[in-house]
Amino acid sequence: MASEGSRVIQDIIRCTDFAARKHKGQRRKDSESTPYINHPIGVAFILTEEAGISDVAVIQAALLHDTVEDTHTTIEEIGREFGDEVKGLVSEVTDDKSLPKLERKQQQILHAPHASHKAKLVKLADKLYNLRDLKRGAPVGWSESRVHEYFEWSAKVIDGLRGTNKHMEDALDGLLKEKNVV
Ligand code: NDP
Ligand code: ZN
Repeated sequence: MASEGSRVIQDIIRCTDFAARKHKGQRRKDSESTPYINHPIGVAFILTEEAGISDVAVIQAALLHDTVEDTHTTIEEIGREFGDEVKGLVSEVTDDKSLPKLERKQQQILHAPHASHKAKLVKLADKLYNLRDLKRGAPVGWSESRVHEYFEWSAKVIDGLRGTNKHMEDALDGLLKEKNVV
């Protein structure tokens, strides 16, 4: 029988492989067109290396967090493959795609305070990764003011996630301060 440790490793690698196949061919918006999979792996890495998180479902949700929003993956598929807890977390971090894009961004601000603690961890790590990405360089075609607006919107979402993880919130506050967003 597999030990607990080897089962955890297996669960994490299954998610990584699933996300890599689903995001295959997708690229980030940075000028180097970085492979998209770098992002969910990087979000999981922030949680394990920086935020001190070892909850397996949180790490699985981080690896899968953009599969339903950005690929043809369904939330039912996530449930079948990875169980109800991971399905619930991925559902919490997935925007309602039936809404127009600007409305979805407003919904993120409104829903953040009501997310579960585990979903808030994934959301904080996602925001930290994306703001660091923007700090590295603006996506192709983005003006300085668009980058600034993105920081301002992120600050509103982050406000609803506070009291969840000091390390990530301090790191986010540092980035917001550098951009004069308070
Ligand atoms: P988008 O929502 O279009 O793009 C930001 C998202 O792209 C991030 O949340 C992140 O999501 C993903 N992403 C991919 N690559 C990167 C990267 N290198 N750095 C950071 N994030 C990356 O941007 P906006 O929020 O600015 O725009 C929202 C809507 O408003 C869109 O419909 C846009 O067309 C429109 N608009 C906005 C303008 C503005 O000035 N704000 C100007 C013109 C249009 P994930 O974590 O899911 O990968
Ligand atoms: Zn993301």
